[in-house]
Amino acid sequence: MAQEDFDLFVIGGGSGGVRAARIAASHGARVGIAEEYRFGGTCVIRGCVPKKLLVYASRFAADFEDAAGYGWNVGKPTFDWPSLIAAKDREIARLERIYAANLQKADATLFPERATLLGPNQVKLASGRILNVAKTLIATGGTPTLPHELPGVEHAISSNEAFDLKALPRSIAIVGGGYIALEFAGIFAGLGTQVTVVHRGDHVLRNFDSDLSRRIVEAYRARGVRFELESLLLKLERRGGAAGPIVATLNSGNLLEVEQVMFAIGRTPNVAGLGLERAGVTTDRNDAIIVDELSRTSVPSIYAIGDVTNRLNLTPVAIREGHAFADTVFGEAPWQADYEHVPKAVFSTPEIGTVGLTEEDAVRCHAVVDIYRADFRTLKATLSGSNERMMMKLVVDGSSDRVLGAHLLGPDAGELVQVIATLLRTGVTKRDFDQTMPLHPSSAEELMTLRTRSARRIQHHDPLRGLMP
Ligand SMILES: Cc1cc2nc3c(=O)[nH]c(=O)nc-3n(C[C@H](O)[C@H](O)[C@H](O)COP(=O)(O)OP(=O)(O)OC[C@H]3O[C@@H](n4cnc5c(N)ncnc54)[C@H](O)[C@@H]3O)c2cc1C
Repeated sequence: MAQEDFDLFVIGGGSGGVRAARIAASHGARVGIAEEYRFGGTCVIRGCVPKKLLVYASRFAADFEDAAGYGWNVGKPTFDWPSLIAAKDREIARLERIYAANLQKADATLFPERATLLGPNQVKLASGRILNVAKTLIATGGTPTLPHELPGVEHAISSNEAFDLKALPRSIAIVGGGYIALEFAGIFAGLGTQVTVVHRGDHVLRNFDSDLSRRIVEAYRARGVRFELESLLLKLERRGGAAGPIVATLNSGNLLEVEQVMFAIGRTPNVAGLGLERAGVTTDRNDAIIVDELSRTSVPSIYAIGDVTNRLNLTPVAIREGHAFADTVFGEAPWQADYEHVPKAVFSTPEIGTVGLTEEDAVRCHAVVDIYRADFRTLKATLSGSNERMMMKLVVDGSSDRVLGAHLLGPDAGELVQVIATLLRTGVTKRDFDQTMPLHPSSAEELMTLRTRSARRIQHHDPLRGLMP
C-alpha cells in the first residue's frame, strides 16, 4: 500500500467529528478532517445553538407582559426579525471560527470540502485529491427528512431554512410532533406568528412520558397554537405567485392557508453519495451506518459515530462517542459512551426536562410503580398574573424506593433535569429526596416535598410482567 497521508481521516466537522479529531491528534495521530459546509456542524450552525438563541428571543414577549405585574412600564415592545437573525449569525460565525481554530491548534489538517470513500483505506476530496488513510471516521450527521413524494413539497422549508428566513412569517404550519417541531412552534408563537402544528399521530412527543406530551399540548393551546392531530398533508399549493400564501390540503378535507410550511418529521442519516457500498460499509433500513459498541463498522478500518449511526441523536452523545473512539483506537484507553440516564430537554415554552423511565415504561418492567406528582402555579406568576405553571413527576420503583424517572415541565426544567440525571445514576431513592433539605423559596423544593403518592400506585400481581417478550 502507498505511504499513508493520515493515521485518521474524519469525514464531517460537526460535534462528534471535531471532538474525535482533536482527541486522536492529542494522542499523536496524524489527523485530517473534511467539512463540506461549515465547521461546527448541525448543532452549532443550524441546530441546538441557534435554536436556543431563538428560544430566548421568543420568551421576551411573555417577560415584558410579566414585568408590568412587578411595577415595570416597558411601553409597547416591538420586535425586528432581521436584527435577531443578524445577531444570531454573528455568534454562529464566532463559534465556527473557534471550532476551526481548535482543530488547527490540535495540529489537525483541515479540508473545507466534501469527502467520499473510495475504498477501505482511500478517501477522495471534492478537489479531486485522493488520500491514503489508515483509518476513517464517518461523522457526517443527518439531514432533515422531507416527504419528496408530496405534491408541492418544494414550497416547504425545513429547520435548515427556518434559521435564515428573510422575514418572520405571519402564519406557519409546522408538520411533525417531535421535539424540533414543538421547539419551533414555541419560537414562532412567541414572536407573534400564528402557528398550526400538523401531526399524523394522536399525541406529540412519542416516547416521552404521557403527562408531558399531554401537558405541552394544553399549554400550547392556551398560548394560541392550533393543533391538527391525526392529520396528514395531501398536497401543498402556492396561490398567487411567489409571494402568495401556501394552501395545505389535509386528509380531513380541511384547507390551511399559511405563509410558510415547515417540515420537522425526522432526520435521515447523511450517507447519500458517500461511497459506503464501494468501501463495503453496511447500513440498516433507515440508512444508518451499522456499528458495534466501539463504533466499528463492517469494515475494520472504518468507524462511524454520531447521528449518522442513529443511536441517540444528541450533541453530547456524538461528542462522547467521538471521544471514546479516539481514546480507544489511538490512546490505548478503551471506553464506551454510556447511554443510561441521558437527560433530555425540549426547549419549548413551557420547557420540558426528562430523564429515566417514563411511567409507561416503568409499568412495563416493574411490579410496583409509585407515581408522585406536583402541579403548581409558580411564585413568579402570582404577581405577574400569568398562568405559568410547573409540573413535576417522579416515577419510583415501589419495591426498592429507587427513583426510575423524573419528568418536569416548566421554567428551567432542562437545567434541573441535568442534575437529577446524576442522582439517578447513583441510584437515588425517593427517601433521599425526602431527606434533602428543601431550598426555599424555589420551584425545585417541590421535588423534596412530594410527600404522598399523589397520583397512584400501580401494582401487578405478576412481577415478571413486562419482562416477557
Ligand atoms: C433544529 C435542531 C435542533 C437541535 N437541538 C438539539 C439540542 O437542543 N440538543 C442536542 O443535544 N441536540 C440537538 N440537535 C441534534 C444535534 O444537532 C445532533 O445530534 C449533532 O449535531 C450530531 O453531531 P454529529 O457530529 O453526528 O453530526 P453533525 O453535527 O450533523 O455534523 C456532521 C457534519 O458533517 C458534514 N458532512 C456531511 N457529509 C459530508 C461529507 N461527505 N464531506 C464532508 N463533510 C460532510 C456536515 O456538513 C456537518 O457539518 C438538534 C438538531 C437540529 C436539527
